[in-house]
Amino acid sequence: MHRVTLIPGDGIGPEISAAVQEIFAAAAAPVLWDVHFAGQGGIDRCGDPLPEATMASIRANKVALKGPLTTQVGEGYRSINVTLRQTLDLYCNLRPVKSLPGVRSRYEGIDLVIFRENTEDLYAGVEHRVGRYAAESVKIITTEASVRIAQAAFAYAARHGRKRVTAVHKANIMKLTDGLFLASAREVAKLNPDIRYDEVIVDNLCMQLVMRPEEYDVLLAPNLYGDIVSDLCAGLVGGLGVVPGANLGEGGAVFEAVHGTAPDIAGRNAANPAALLLSAAMMLDYLGEGPTAARIRAALEAVLAEGRAVTPDLGGSATTLQMTDEIIRKL
Ligand code: NAD
Repeated sequence: MHRVTLIPGDGIGPEISAAVQEIFAAAAAPVLWDVHFAGQGGIDRCGDPLPEATMASIRANKVALKGPLTTQVGEGYRSINVTLRQTLDLYCNLRPVKSLPGVRSRYEGIDLVIFRENTEDLYAGVEHRVGRYAAESVKIITTEASVRIAQAAFAYAARHGRKRVTAVHKANIMKLTDGLFLASAREVAKLNPDIRYDEVIVDNLCMQLVMRPEEYDVLLAPNLYGDIVSDLCAGLVGGLGVVPGANLGEGGAVFEAVHGTAPDIAGRNAANPAALLLSAAMMLDYLGEGPTAARIRAALEAVLAEGRAVTPDLGGSATTLQMTDEIIRKL
């Protein structure tokens, strides 16, 4: 049994987390859930958006599955997601983006993976006001962080038989910061001569992805470009409701749905559990439970391909519970 911290999350989080727990139980996945709270749930229960008990649980279990958390824009506490990543040094954000059978989207045959650096860049949070009419944010790029995310991307490519790693940058403008990111990626690429390495400027990449997304394989990006490009790529395969995500570090891993709390449909039994379920399947792979992960993915894909028992965001009229039951029937 693997003991895993479960943060159900806010908004639709509890509904989709319950779906994952039911499906895991039906699949006899060897996971013991250690449930803790964060975000609004943390504030409501413990007066803290990231309670110490939650952090202690993740530190002890080293693996967590996290539903979406409410983040206040502008004012208020810092993003819990960013704090979690920085505190636990989860330096690698991994997003596989794959066309799924039955999920309507503009493209077919997309199978790409994004490696996003997760701890620095403009997300380091070094921001200040400069007098009344200006504000500054400092973009931090280090060799250490750039090399390790590049190593993660190349190691993944080698392990999964991927042929090409493309570094994403804007070094024509940000010559020092993005220049350092590229220099680091090139050093790692030299050590991996079997994998093709190339570079693309982020704005050009956005256009290329919209025109010929199937040409890309592994994308390697600093934090901000990686964040934006990841969501663009999610849109290529049917949206945030069907894309999983993981935050990985040497000492632990937090798996999460990449969509938000969907306050417009929260509590209405209408949320699509697929993204969190796919993230949970990635977690099983990470835990060495590949066959169970594969069975769960196959059951979900069968339900998606049939298109009968899917939630409204996928063009169906099923509830979260009905879709969950159908996945369990397929299992
Ligand atoms: P959102 O992803 O919550 O919602 C965008 C749209 O997608 C909505 O129409 C929503 O109904 C739909 N949607 C999202 N997930 C869905 C699902 N599983 N099933 C069906 N429909 C789904 O984005 P938002 O409205 O910009 O953000 C709402 C809140 O979520 C904010 O507080 C934001 O900070 C937070 N957020 C959290 C995370 C996270 O914890 N990882 C990520 C993004 C946003």
